[in-house]
Amino acid sequence: MTHDLIVIGAGAAGMMAAITAARCGSRVLLLEKQSQSGAKLRASGGGRCNLANTLSSEQFIARFGREGRFMIPALKALDHDALVEFFAGIGVECNALDGYRIFPVTHKSDTVVAALEAEIKRLDIELLYGQKVEKIDQQNGAVIGVTTNTQSYRAANVIIASGGPGYPSLGADASGYDLAAATGHQISELFPAMLPLKTRETWVKKCRADTIGKAEMRINLPEAKKLQAKGDLIFTENGIRGPIVLDFAREITPLLKKYGEVPLLINLTQGMNEEQIRERLKKAQSNNKSASVADLLATFINRPLARELCQLASIDPDSAYGRLAGQQRDELIKLLTWTPLTVIGHDGFAAAMVTRGGVALKQISPETMQSRLLQGLYFCGEIVDLDGPCGGFNLHWAFASGHLAGQLKSIPG
Ligand SMILES: Cc1cc2nc3c(=O)[nH]c(=O)nc-3n(C[C@H](O)[C@H](O)[C@H](O)COP(=O)(O)OP(=O)(O)OC[C@H]3O[C@@H](n4cnc5c(N)ncnc54)[C@H](O)[C@@H]3O)c2cc1C
Repeated sequence: MTHDLIVIGAGAAGMMAAITAARCGSRVLLLEKQSQSGAKLRASGGGRCNLANTLSSEQFIARFGREGRFMIPALKALDHDALVEFFAGIGVECNALDGYRIFPVTHKSDTVVAALEAEIKRLDIELLYGQKVEKIDQQNGAVIGVTTNTQSYRAANVIIASGGPGYPSLGADASGYDLAAATGHQISELFPAMLPLKTRETWVKKCRADTIGKAEMRINLPEAKKLQAKGDLIFTENGIRGPIVLDFAREITPLLKKYGEVPLLINLTQGMNEEQIRERLKKAQSNNKSASVADLLATFINRPLARELCQLASIDPDSAYGRLAGQQRDELIKLLTWTPLTVIGHDGFAAAMVTRGGVALKQISPETMQSRLLQGLYFCGEIVDLDGPCGGFNLHWAFASGHLAGQLKSIPG
């Protein structure tokens, strides 16, 4: 055999795995089906590459939900400080100007990809493009290599770092899951995550102009009553987008599949409760006794939204607030506290920055990223059944898991 390791996919996880293995002395072959490496990495963070964040590992893990604990060994070996150090070592200085999100100082993802490619070259890693792996070859319960669209390659270790199917416009597909499934691995159901959502309510399109800061969102279903999110929200032509939506979409898309629609309740008043809203309106009215309902609401929400919410409460926005009946005020305040919206669709994987679901965690050792089913097979990056919110979580996971997989450790005892 000419190689010790074959890595499938030259994305964030695969390039890090290849570099780590080569630095440990392995002869590495990196196979990429596209004609370039790091297509998603280049597009990440709007081309700026938010590659990690400054949260502690404990806080980071908590943002991935219950399964996040799987990441402990990988993050222990490559926390955000170590990742920043790694990049500095290959010539990419990083900083966190807002104290939270870590970017290359150039704010250009191309800088990151170019540095990884240069390190791959320096380490003599063989990187072949246009090689789509179609089969993991095995013998007697151990990996012996792979077969691509053109030929077979031999190695006793294979790392699958093929990413998820989101953004096929960047060359993504689900072929990695097929490779994992064909070697007996369970794939938990895949759902598009981190994407805008479509709503039944058409009034949203009239409120597109402004970002709604610190919105709060709940799913109005008994089984999801513990789930809530907070962040900036933006109305679109046909629904909602913005950080809160991207982060919460992973909870909504499975429910949408189950029920066909998902009722949401959204607080668009920066978290004020009914009492606070009532007080706020009272105070605003005391300064202007004849003010219209829309004028008063516009003191704390944007005017188009104020008008739409009045319409929803069957109140003329231009009528004087002082003339509203008590029941009308109650209804308006209730609506302001929790505005209902109904999610009825999305653009699927075409618009999904991340995939929910993937290779079952129970079949992978968190200490090594090695398969518990097939000797010599490893996984890293998005193909694994873990996904995080916006803010550098997914790339840091891709790099950290690639770094651990590339050490080619065997499952302990
Ligand atoms: C538009 C966009 C913006 C994003 N922004 C951010 C961000 O700012 N911060 C953040 O943390 N995350 C971000 N993400 C998510 C992040 O990019 C991914 O989570 C991350 O790239 C996953 O890394 P990966 O190496 O596992 O997979 P990928 O980066 O997808 O790499 C997988 C590679 O494997 C190749 N491949 C697949 N199948 C095969 C096969 N059968 N044979 C050979 N090669 C194969 C693919 O062509 C690809 O090059 C963003 C995603 C998108 C789409």
